Amino acid sequence: VIMMGQGEHSKITTCAYCGVGCSFKAEMKGNEVVRMVPNPDGKANQGHACVKGRFAWGYATHKDRMLKPMIRSKISDPWREVSWEEAINYTASEFKRIQAKYGKDSIGGLVSSRCTNEEGYLVQKLVRAAFGNNNVDTCARVCHSPTGYGLKVTLGESAGTQTFESVMKSDVIVVIGANPVNAHPVFASQMKRRIRQGAKLIVVDPRTTEMVKSPHVQADYHLKLMPGTNVAIVNALAYVILSEKLHKPEFIAERCEADSFKEWEHFILQEENSPEAVEKISGVPAEDIRAAARMYANAKNGSIYYGLGVTEHAQGSTTVIGIANLAMATGNVGREGVGVNPLRGQNNVQGSCDMGSFPHELPGYRHVSDSTTRAEFEAAWNCVLDPEPGLRIPNMFDAAMDGTFMGLYCQGEDIVQSDPDTQHVTAALSAMECIVVQDIFLNETAKYAHVFLPGSSFLEKDGTFTNAERRISRVRKVMPPKAGKGDWEVTCMLSNALGYPMSYKHPREIMDEIASLTPTFTGVSFKRIDELGGSIQWPCNDAAPEGTPTMHIGEFVRGKGKFIDTKYFGAGEKVTRKFPLILTTGRILSQYNVGAQTRRTHNNMWHSEDRLEIHPQDALDRGIKHNDWVGIESRAGQTVLRAEITENVQPGVVYTTFHFPESGANVITTSSSDWATNCPEYKVTAVQVMPVTQP
Ligand code: SF4
Repeated sequence: VIMMGQGEHSKITTCAYCGVGCSFKAEMKGNEVVRMVPNPDGKANQGHACVKGRFAWGYATHKDRMLKPMIRSKISDPWREVSWEEAINYTASEFKRIQAKYGKDSIGGLVSSRCTNEEGYLVQKLVRAAFGNNNVDTCARVCHSPTGYGLKVTLGESAGTQTFESVMKSDVIVVIGANPVNAHPVFASQMKRRIRQGAKLIVVDPRTTEMVKSPHVQADYHLKLMPGTNVAIVNALAYVILSEKLHKPEFIAERCEADSFKEWEHFILQEENSPEAVEKISGVPAEDIRAAARMYANAKNGSIYYGLGVTEHAQGSTTVIGIANLAMATGNVGREGVGVNPLRGQNNVQGSCDMGSFPHELPGYRHVSDSTTRAEFEAAWNCVLDPEPGLRIPNMFDAAMDGTFMGLYCQGEDIVQSDPDTQHVTAALSAMECIVVQDIFLNETAKYAHVFLPGSSFLEKDGTFTNAERRISRVRKVMPPKAGKGDWEVTCMLSNALGYPMSYKHPREIMDEIASLTPTFTGVSFKRIDELGGSIQWPCNDAAPEGTPTMHIGEFVRGKGKFIDTKYFGAGEKVTRKFPLILTTGRILSQYNVGAQTRRTHNNMWHSEDRLEIHPQDALDRGIKHNDWVGIESRAGQTVLRAEITENVQPGVVYTTFHFPESGANVITTSSSDWATNCPEYKVTAVQVMPVTQP
């Protein structure tokens, strides 16, 4: 706590929006926050902040905050305010009734990647130890689950390899499927500083983003590909590197599996992966692919940054693997200035995955089928663990439609608004018998809920978030929970009511338990984080007591790096005569995800609606003028937006953001998903667009 003027004081905490994880001083008068000031000592942001973070406190005190637990036996009934005890006992009795009737696997839990590590850890423990199954998932499922898979199988760890600071040593920066200017603004500024110092920039994106062309930065190459063709482009880059012998044989021989390289080289050097063949698929000129490949491979230090434009595809995991292949082939792993760097969308995507919030992995990415791992957790938790992986989010919806999944505990996620194919989601929720929503607002998912438990905002929490560079940062409670209970306390109450005792005095004890059970966290504690200036990058253990800024130095986490073939098969969503355009999606600077928080702050001053970008030729063909209302129809549904005619998108591609519920972006996205992880193919939806009268 830093004391200031009369009645004023401040506490240092961490922004709860994006994966940059900026450190802030929350300045308060009494119990009210009056300002958020970026912390000059914050290692991820070094005194900088973006427009989202500066105004984030606004939603925490918004009049829409829900402060009382509520229940109703049918969703057509009005809500009834009840005590915490009644709400928890009702939930426990409903979950017990459902499990008695439909079996132990008929309930599950979701935890948002907005929640702290400690909260995420407790939810997966609740599901595994108290529910007795592995039906736990997190919204990382719908954003970066392909990162977890792709980096684990190639490099051995489901995480980015570098610090943000590392970009200042890059000579060539490759940005694939990401627009950090809007989605990770503070890191984008650092990247732009490096580019102004002379680093080269290659952008792979279907749209001309602010990263490609702006007053402050101009890409050297923009590979403006058709959405859904990432794998083809990554393969073509590899083709040029291998065929022109630009790869690093010494690095490969010393650091990678020889057989896997030989097999991959044979796979890549097929004619179908040549720039000329890929030009026909992707629309990117072959000479640009060649030039970009040479620039990356010839760099002293080449780094790759990627975002949801890589992962949210039917081949999301394949592209992540392809990116890791490129980095290994060119020796760009294991030192500063290089690496494979996923730009995580939410503040704690990395952390929620680290904490075992996936149905197949216990904390520390250890598979539930491994009996040694299970025995360790069973001894610590005093329970018997299920060796079978549980249901992923989309499988929960399917099981609900089959009548076998009937109860859901949902902490901090608005699945109705954020998951694809809204009609399918709402039909599944309507089929369930007890849905519990724990949130700060009565969100869209709460319309289908039987129990509402008021959540706490980031300003009311003690705990940690882990950002995109594996940095575990302290989140500090600057005001008491407005509803009287912290989210972690509510999870404990539910567990106790279900008969599995859970008792902690403070979130620091939860982190101590995490550290005792997770090899990459054994040196992590609130005390240690404070001693090291407010954050630590994992792995932090006996081998690395001060944390690990750069991973895979000298040796990959899996031992030898593994090349894996990346066969291109294209998007799940195909254009047809009925749906001839491809819709892709992204973000704007002032709003965050589905906008539940930013729409309740001053950020609405800058942006107040989602619009549909359409190329002038496609607009002309359909008689659409700038600002006209247009109907957008896909195989899943339809919605209406205002048109923005721009050459930022290419012919055949339309683009929108998804920050406002009335725009219904996810009414039109479909259930098509990544082959390995079920991450939705948000970035490719086949649509038709036509003018309509004002809705
Ligand atoms: Fe930093 Fe991201 Fe928060 Fe902006 S939204 S202040 S870049 S953490």
